[in-house]
Amino acid sequence: METVQNFIQGQISESHSQRFAPVYNPATGEQTRQVVLSSAAETAEAIAAADKAFPAWAKTSPLKRARVMFKFKALLEQNMDRLARLISNEHGKVYSDAVGEVTRGLEVVEFACGIPHLQKGEHSANVGTGVDSHSLMQPLGVCAGISPFNFPAMVPMWMFPIALATGNTFVLKPSEKDPSMGIVMAELLKEAGLPDGVFNVVNGDKEAVDVLLTDPRVQAVSFVGSTPIAEYIYSTASAHGKRCQALGGAKNHCILMPDADLDMATNAIMGAAYGAAGERCMALSVVVAVGDETADETIAKLKEQINVMNVGPGIVEGQENDMGPVISAQHKKKICDYINSGVEQGASLVVDGRDIKIEGHENGFFVGPTLFDNVSPDMTIYQEEIFGPVLAVVRVPDYQTGLELINRHEYGNGTAIFTRDGETARQFSEDVLAGMVGVNVPIPVPMAFHSFGGWKRSVFGPLNVHGNDGVRFYTRMKTVTSRWPASVRLEQHSSSFVMPTMD
Ligand code: NAD
Repeated sequence: METVQNFIQGQISESHSQRFAPVYNPATGEQTRQVVLSSAAETAEAIAAADKAFPAWAKTSPLKRARVMFKFKALLEQNMDRLARLISNEHGKVYSDAVGEVTRGLEVVEFACGIPHLQKGEHSANVGTGVDSHSLMQPLGVCAGISPFNFPAMVPMWMFPIALATGNTFVLKPSEKDPSMGIVMAELLKEAGLPDGVFNVVNGDKEAVDVLLTDPRVQAVSFVGSTPIAEYIYSTASAHGKRCQALGGAKNHCILMPDADLDMATNAIMGAAYGAAGERCMALSVVVAVGDETADETIAKLKEQINVMNVGPGIVEGQENDMGPVISAQHKKKICDYINSGVEQGASLVVDGRDIKIEGHENGFFVGPTLFDNVSPDMTIYQEEIFGPVLAVVRVPDYQTGLELINRHEYGNGTAIFTRDGETARQFSEDVLAGMVGVNVPIPVPMAFHSFGGWKRSVFGPLNVHGNDGVRFYTRMKTVTSRWPASVRLEQHSSSFVMPTMD
């Protein structure tokens, strides 16, 4: 059986670890590979490679670093089919969705191609007579990235293109559930001309992560995953003096106003709730319907559309399914347990996805699209992130009750409003406590040149990923204030003990 290894100092590095994790094809339920769970010593080896490569890479001009990114972007495009197939086979999402994932990652690479402009810093002439100030945005050193299973290509590309383009070196610890993409990225970066040691991949679990969080050579940690782990990563990395951005879980609500175009809203909600089998941090999992009429009509429309959804393997030649399996047998059980709890706690199960059978794929990890009505805020299926194809409808009498509900939830990643009224949409955008807001847009994932990040317990750390925040996260500012000899010559050479001020 193929073993997914590490990539250190520009080549595949065979691990001596005796610990492995299985990697499955979720559509068939079969184990297809195993991945090494690296030891602490092997993780330190990857950090050492990145540390050694840092001085030369940091001194490489931003223009040359950007040129590696241009080549890397071209290689991603050329390899799109291979990458999408690999994602679909390890993660389970349908092929077109996998292409979408790579494309969204590629857009961060495109953004990073502009690094000579983005990393220019600022300059002020004459902050005082004959005195100038300029800032340098310098790289940090070795940066680490720890990524989740649900976007094996896109989430690492939220991180490393900007980290590398700004002159840092990188150690990526991919999810052990779909680890192959990390190695493929490393190989493509090498083909694009990235010097050895600048980008390294260590596969593993907590043992490897803990080294990345504590080793003094690592300067910054980017994490995306569940909230309890994000909190652990943030507190541990910060306690060890590192800069950290840790993005956590979500429970994204949309508020459906009675004046909304309900056909448009239903189409949008279907894709946002059930796309990628709900395994997206920006998946829509709660519809807050204002008024019973809005709820009844929407539920009827959703039911109709769910009934014609194609659920099946992510890759079927000549056919495209709407939704694939979930990541693992354990995760399928967890989702089904949530559905059971919803029933026990009194929600109305409108569509039940627990017993779905896919012909020829009976052992695949499939959960059908599931819809609950009459969900209330005290229920577990309302409070917790299910991360599966389960949509809850909560009925509220008016807009204000809906807004307060959203703002009380512990998570605040993304949210959306469906309405035809501009004033309501504007007020919602201003008052809602979430990091990303959609107005008649169901999954408001900002483009690469904006920044992505939630609020409340969906994020730990002040700087979001990509966009200007990404550039700020991976650089530190140095401000140089200079006065040149001619002005010194004109001054009286005596000491001054007062706080310097400019005039
Ligand atoms: P996870 O938290 O289980 O794992 C994420 C990473 O952390 C993996 O690389 C894993 O190996 C590592 N990890 C797991 N347990 C650890 C431990 N005890 N100590 C150290 N490292 C550990 O998350 P997941 O199941 O892979 O991904 C799904 C979660 O990610 C969901 O909660 C989803 O909302 C979240 N997510 C959030 C965003 C966002 O932008 N906010 C994006 C994608 C996914």
